[in-house]
Amino acid sequence: MESRHANDGMSFVDTHCHIDFEHFDADRDAAFTRYAEAGGQWLVAVAVDLEHIPRLRGLAEARDNVFFSVGVHPNHEVDVEPAFEELCRLADHPKCVAIGETGMDFYRHRVSPGEQEVRFRTHLRAARAVDKPVIVHMREADSDTLRVLEEEGADACGGIMHCFSSTIEVAAQALDMGLSISFSGNVTYKANDALRAVAAFVPEEALLVETDAPYLAPVPHRGKRNEPAHVRHVVKCIAGVRGKDPEYIARLSLENACRRFGVAP
Ligand SMILES: [Zn+2]
Ligand SMILES: [Zn+2]
Repeated sequence: MESRHANDGMSFVDTHCHIDFEHFDADRDAAFTRYAEAGGQWLVAVAVDLEHIPRLRGLAEARDNVFFSVGVHPNHEVDVEPAFEELCRLADHPKCVAIGETGMDFYRHRVSPGEQEVRFRTHLRAARAVDKPVIVHMREADSDTLRVLEEEGADACGGIMHCFSSTIEVAAQALDMGLSISFSGNVTYKANDALRAVAAFVPEEALLVETDAPYLAPVPHRGKRNEPAHVRHVVKCIAGVRGKDPEYIARLSLENACRRFGVAP
């Protein structure tokens, strides 16, 4: 059993969560408190559509330690595709630290691959225009995602491969474009030795951690609702495979997050 307010002396950042979702309506304040007590410094509340940007922005304006992103998820069905100008306008806010989540996802087919690619390119152009990093969601679409990142010059704005779940080869290509690699709860899953090998491979300066809460709860919370405080289990897992102290990995990923998102330490 772990104590309810487990603080292992770590300071960390959850670089990707959906704390605005209704999953947290009953206990959002308590979830923020648990996060702070566990060592959470600040977090990025990531957009999946434009309708809920006011909700995200409101959370960020109400709390010093909440930042947000602007974007439409690759598999999110919309009546009107997000326009470059609109993304830039919505991102023009002091607490907006990234564009996304965007990318390509062929696991589900709510949005066709062709439409996803157009939408992804629009986000990348907006990210370059506003000079903010792009949060990339990539699922079963590795070669197309990497191709578009390359063609749109993602190295100019920088970005994050969020919830990274692919191979060392794919990670190496993303790293070559100057992107950071963010690991979530699935790196703790028993069957994911190959992903832990990627977590051991990523250079120190490119390593980030996240929850993607309410999804993908790490062991020992697997199968339950995830929340930002649980990012410490991702930190501990990565520390184990890299042979470092959790405090060291926590601090390292915190400093990387500050640099990547332009947040003052
Ligand atoms: Zn995602
Ligand atoms: Zn997400």
